[in-house]
Amino acid sequence: MRYISTRGHAAPQAFCDILLGGLAPDGGLYLPESYPRISRAELDAWRGLSYADLAYEILRRFIDDIPSADLKAIIARTYTADVYCHARNGSDAARITPLTRLDENLYTLELSNGPTLAFKDMAMQLLGNLFEYVLERRGESINILGATSGDTGSAAEYAMRGKHNVKVFMLSPEGRMSAFQRAQMYSLADANIFNIAVSGMFDDAQDIVKAVSNDADFKARYKIGAVNSINWARVLAQIVYYFQGYFLATQTNDEQVAFAVPSGNFGNICAGHIARRMGLPIARLALATNENDVLDEFFRSGVYRPRASVETHVTSSPSMDISKASNFERFVFDLVGRDPAIVRELWARVDQGLAFDLSATPHWADVARFGFVSGKSAHGDRINTIRFAQGRYGVMLDPHTADGLKVALEHRLPGVPMIVLETAQPAKFEDTIREALGSEPPRPADLAGIEQLPQRVAVMAPDVEAVKRFIAERV
Ligand SMILES: *Cc1c(COP(=O)(O)O)cnc(C)c1O
Repeated sequence: MRYISTRGHAAPQAFCDILLGGLAPDGGLYLPESYPRISRAELDAWRGLSYADLAYEILRRFIDDIPSADLKAIIARTYTADVYCHARNGSDAARITPLTRLDENLYTLELSNGPTLAFKDMAMQLLGNLFEYVLERRGESINILGATSGDTGSAAEYAMRGKHNVKVFMLSPEGRMSAFQRAQMYSLADANIFNIAVSGMFDDAQDIVKAVSNDADFKARYKIGAVNSINWARVLAQIVYYFQGYFLATQTNDEQVAFAVPSGNFGNICAGHIARRMGLPIARLALATNENDVLDEFFRSGVYRPRASVETHVTSSPSMDISKASNFERFVFDLVGRDPAIVRELWARVDQGLAFDLSATPHWADVARFGFVSGKSAHGDRINTIRFAQGRYGVMLDPHTADGLKVALEHRLPGVPMIVLETAQPAKFEDTIREALGSEPPRPADLAGIEQLPQRVAVMAPDVEAVKRFIAERV
């Protein structure tokens, strides 16, 4: 399997060659040159596999440059019940992503039972093990530099902690994350994890990461890498749980399901789109946004109008607060018939901060053919949905999953199971749960009192040179 760029001007690459990088050299995103089609016989054989065995069957169709036995061992080590140990609602941790029934044909798929209680663990844990394996084999090392407003940074740190040949430098906005999120990251004692709190906002931290990454000499000399949401392996890992959700919600492979996906950078639902292209019987993919509705606007009108970052709303589902969706280019590439010339033309506009409009083109009809519908949820909806789910189903939802449920209820098809992807646990968002329910969300026992652990963080002014010095002294 070779990987090609959505902009068509980069040489095709093998999986391990794109694993450690970010954008393709032509500015595009990597995708497999074609999606493997899964036959009915294969689907029948996969029903009943353990999560790890299912993941192996899917991943080996995209990864042909890691020997089978090694790939199998990496996956078996990644998807174990002791890593995804935070199952709630009496569900079975051994499923890795257990299904919770809310109502007739209405479910949540628990993707947030990993170490940091958000779905980003599902992919990041695999990335940690793949990075370590490939770096060891090549005798290389990497220094991951990132900026986080919460979920991504902690998922990356828990995935990379203690890994050989990997160091993580994670910038966060000082005082802007919840006490729990700070404790999750800053209490890690591993020698390869470095937390930097920047006095400023998330965008200041992000700007520093961009400035450091744009310094080609520094980047090469200090082997600076990233694990951001455009990484192909993250999308790939997420395909697996769409299959798992399908098998858990149906009795036979004659049935169809629908998924509702709380979305920000379009990484999660992009994996659902690919699962569907592979032949998984998905009737609908319902995309849910919060007040930051760039994507809902596109799926309703055909107009993609990325916002300036100053226009981004700070919301109570903060992990979906995006001004442009970094994985969206992958979907548009498929939508325009995989014609890189069209993608180049559209993103020439996006890169200048302009919008594009597909509504009058022949491609627009394919949005429906690809199964997409969308909707939006604002703070009041979110609070109401958290209350509704608790009262009606006895299940406590986090604010992001509540956005997903709100939109799911608008797009159900008669007789078709609707599966809402649960992207985080309520324990991460105590303030919003308190506002909705007047009580504290329960916290997994092993995370009780983490705010009291000693913390390790360097506080810095938003100064690119100071951050570079900090890195240079530690690698
Ligand atoms: C990252 C995140 C999202 C958005 O996922 P995308 O892949 O960026 O669309 C939704 N909910 C939670 C809790 C997240 O951490």
